[in-house]
Amino acid sequence: MIETVINEIDVKSVLTKSNLPVCEYSVNPYAGCTHACKYCYASFMKRFTGHTEDWGTFLDIKYWKEIKNPGKYKGKELFIGSVTDPYNPQEETYGRTRALLEQLKGSGAKLSIATKSDLILRDLDLIKSFPNARVSWSINTLDESFREDMDKAVSIERRLAAMKAFYLAGVRTTCFISPIFPGITDIKAIIRRAMSQCNLIWLENLNLRGGYKTVIMDYIKEKYPQLFPLYHEIYDCKDRSYWITLDKECKSFAVEIGLDYVTNDDSRHKDFNAPPVIVNYFYHEQIRKNNRSGEPNGTRRDSENHAGIAGS
Ligand code: SF4
Repeated sequence: MIETVINEIDVKSVLTKSNLPVCEYSVNPYAGCTHACKYCYASFMKRFTGHTEDWGTFLDIKYWKEIKNPGKYKGKELFIGSVTDPYNPQEETYGRTRALLEQLKGSGAKLSIATKSDLILRDLDLIKSFPNARVSWSINTLDESFREDMDKAVSIERRLAAMKAFYLAGVRTTCFISPIFPGITDIKAIIRRAMSQCNLIWLENLNLRGGYKTVIMDYIKEKYPQLFPLYHEIYDCKDRSYWITLDKECKSFAVEIGLDYVTNDDSRHKDFNAPPVIVNYFYHEQIRKNNRSGEPNGTRRDSENHAGIAGS
C-alpha cells in the first residue's frame, strides 16, 4: 500500500478570487486529494504545486492567517472545494475546513460546498448557520463495486445519508451525477433515489483528457469490454451522438416524473420544498471553448471544479 505524503504548508490566503459568474471566491483548504478518483479532473493541479507523486497519494494541509474582517464576504459566493475535496479523510485530524468555517461564521457569506464525504455531517450545525448554504455530493453510480473501482471516498449509501440529513436540516442539497460513464451510470435510478432529498440534480458527462484517459480506457477494456467500442467512438472518434441521445432521454424522463429540466442554467431558485430541478451540463465544455472570454450567466461549471466536477 502506498503511503500518503502529508505536508503542512503556510499560505498567504485560502480564498482565491474567481472569475466565474456565480462564484466570487474559490476556497481550497487542501491541495491534493486522497479520494484519488481515477477520473479526477483536478489532477492537472499537480503541475502548479510541484508534486511528482501520483495523484491521490499526497496532501498539502494549508495554514493561513486568521481571516481578518470576515464581514467583507457578506453576500459573496464562496465555493469550497473547487479543486479538491474539503472533507477528505485527513480533515478529521487537521480540521482546516472546519477552521475556515469557524473563521467565516457570522460573515453572511454564501457557501457552496462540494464533497464526496459524509464527514461534513460533523459541521452541519455550523454550515446551517450560513445564509443560503448549499452542499453537493457526487454520485455517479449506485453500484458500490464500480464506485470502489473508481474512488477511495465513502460509499454511495453514506453520501446519500449525509445528503438526506442536510436536506432534513433545511440546507439546500445537490445530487451531482458526475461523471456520467456511458453505459454504466444509471441516471434514472440515481434520480429516483435522490429526488426526495435534494433541491438540484446536476448531470455532467465524463470527459477524458490528460493522463487519465488511458487509465479509464484500459479499465473499460478490462472490466466492461462490451462497452469499449462505444468508448472508442466517444473518446477517440469524438462522436457526440451518445450525449445528444442521452440528453433527449433524460429530458423525457424528467417530464415523466414531473421535474424541470434545463441546460447549463444554475439560476433557478425554487422554494425549498419544491421538487428538484435537473440541470444538464453535457455541453459546458463546448460552451467554454466557444466562449473563452466569458461564460453565459448562470453557468456553473469550470475546469477547476473537482466535483467529478469534478469532485465531488
Ligand atoms: S474528483 Fe474530487 S474527490 Fe475525486 S480525487 Fe478529484 S478532487 Fe478528490
